[in-house]
Amino acid sequence: MSQENAGVLPAVPVLVIGGSLVGLSAAMFLAARGVGCMVVERHPGSSPHPRARGVTQRTLEMFDTAGLRNLPEIPSSFPKLRRVRTEAMVATPIEEIDWTPAGAVRPPPAPSTPRSPHTGAAVAQDQLEPLLRQRALELGATLCLGTELVRFEDREDGILAWLKDSQGITRTVRASYLIGCDGNLSLVREALGITRQGIGVLQVMRSVLFRAELERFRGGIGQWEIQQPDLEAFLAGYGDGRWVLMFRDDIDRDEAALEGAIQRAIGMPVPVEIITTGRWELTALIADHFKKGRVFLAGDAAHTLPPNRGGYGANTGIADAFNLGWKLAAVLSGQSKVSLLESYEEERKPIAWMRFQQIFARPDYARYADDALRETPLLDPIAVELGELYRSSIIEDSSSELPLARCPEEWRGQPGTRAPHRVVMRDGTAISTLDLYGAGWVLVSSSESWCQAATQIRERIGIPLSPINLRAVLGQDDGTLVEQDLGISDQGASLVRPDGVIAWRSSETDGTVETLERAMKVVAQPALSKSPHAHSHDRRRNTV
Ligand SMILES: Cc1cc2nc3c(=O)[nH]c(=O)nc-3n(C[C@H](O)[C@H](O)[C@H](O)COP(=O)(O)OP(=O)(O)OC[C@H]3O[C@@H](n4cnc5c(N)ncnc54)[C@H](O)[C@@H]3O)c2cc1C
Repeated sequence: MSQENAGVLPAVPVLVIGGSLVGLSAAMFLAARGVGCMVVERHPGSSPHPRARGVTQRTLEMFDTAGLRNLPEIPSSFPKLRRVRTEAMVATPIEEIDWTPAGAVRPPPAPSTPRSPHTGAAVAQDQLEPLLRQRALELGATLCLGTELVRFEDREDGILAWLKDSQGITRTVRASYLIGCDGNLSLVREALGITRQGIGVLQVMRSVLFRAELERFRGGIGQWEIQQPDLEAFLAGYGDGRWVLMFRDDIDRDEAALEGAIQRAIGMPVPVEIITTGRWELTALIADHFKKGRVFLAGDAAHTLPPNRGGYGANTGIADAFNLGWKLAAVLSGQSKVSLLESYEEERKPIAWMRFQQIFARPDYARYADDALRETPLLDPIAVELGELYRSSIIEDSSSELPLARCPEEWRGQPGTRAPHRVVMRDGTAISTLDLYGAGWVLVSSSESWCQAATQIRERIGIPLSPINLRAVLGQDDGTLVEQDLGISDQGASLVRPDGVIAWRSSETDGTVETLERAMKVVAQPALSKSPHAHSHDRRRNTV
């Protein structure tokens, strides 16, 4: 029997609505930084019909910081994912369809060292979600499955939310902040009246997930666009014996019709076992705001980007959660002012739009945008993946003249970009430079005066800043190479945020605590140097 407000749940610092890829990642990132959080998910577990499969290099780098490692990676020797247009899987392909047409971008010569410690992974969504769930729980997050957010209020003193469990019992919970990771139809976004721009529904598609032994027909191909007079569909595998056929129509087929279509798409009779079916609305919409008051939107709630070979859907959302995680941790721990949180939308919304444009500038999707974006210069996918630029009020010197993405090695330590990867030796062990970042603020320099200034800064601004004396820690050779990657001399310094993004750098030869303090006041918004506009809960600890 339904009961209105049968009780009050213990308050949490952050309430995450939606326990799919983005909500679970948000919980994991927050919990990894010691922030208490609760995930509310309507379903008891993962959907039996997985969607996403491609986990990008950058996502794996982010997962590393939360201790989620060892996902099965795509061997670097693997040829790139090939998609073909064909009559059937076993037929001779009509043509190869590149994601980025040959010659459309002229990338710089491949660097002699890899750009990431990772190669990317192919893990079906229903296999990745349990790993995220487990890691979030290990780190201390609370999961409330089979529970639905019914409504919420953003009050002066925090969030009050009404949650209904599977028995129909409603309880309330208080939180300092709420993150809406509740997908395309986000109740959180709708309740806030946040509108969206973009292309709306591109297509309604039906899909059938099935099991069959088809690996032997692959022939080095990963995806098939099936084209027959009365069957237009897309065929792809999840790498575990499961395959999906996505119909480019909205016809409700019975089991016999589904099986017939599968056999025709394969091109020969093969035993198949139908697992489940789906119906998807492909949309491309971006919210006008990613933040309102104490509420944030992340993932599909903030931006729906249709499936593409860059894996922009789930991976963009996971990057939202990563960006927000350290900022909420900094504010809730009392280190940073609430003004730091404004940078979330400043940084993530332009990235969502840039990815949107890259999708609709490519032949796969150009027709849905009436070819309006065909003239948009195409970016090398590696630039979008590892070379994005944040231009926000908490990044120094990231001029609006600069492009939003470039191949990572072209940035040379530009503030606003990801601190680059390089394999270096530390204490006789090979590590990635990315392992130097991720836990907190880091000052990288080979100058003793800068390193000393970094150790003194905590007393002044209340934010710990770990110095890394490059040449002392990594040796002369590796230290010099990392200086070059960061675009600093042996006397300069580079300031790296907890999310591995370069916030500021200096070529001044004498590092002083005053210079560093000036920089940190902009990039870390320390609460100790509170501005008169700061909210009353600036110094709030990690409690509500
Ligand atoms: C066919 C297909 C293939 C795709 N392939 C890829 C790919 O390979 N790579 C990639 O990066 N992306 C891919 N995507 C996109 C990707 O699936 C989505 O971008 C991703 O799932 C978005 O994650 P999310 O957590 O933001 O939202 P969702 O996955 O939509 O999850 C939202 C969650 O919120 C819950 N929820 C909603 N409302 C409430 C409420 N009121 N209370 C409690 N819970 C609520 C829902 O139950 C759901 O679990 C694909 C999409 C499709 C359709």
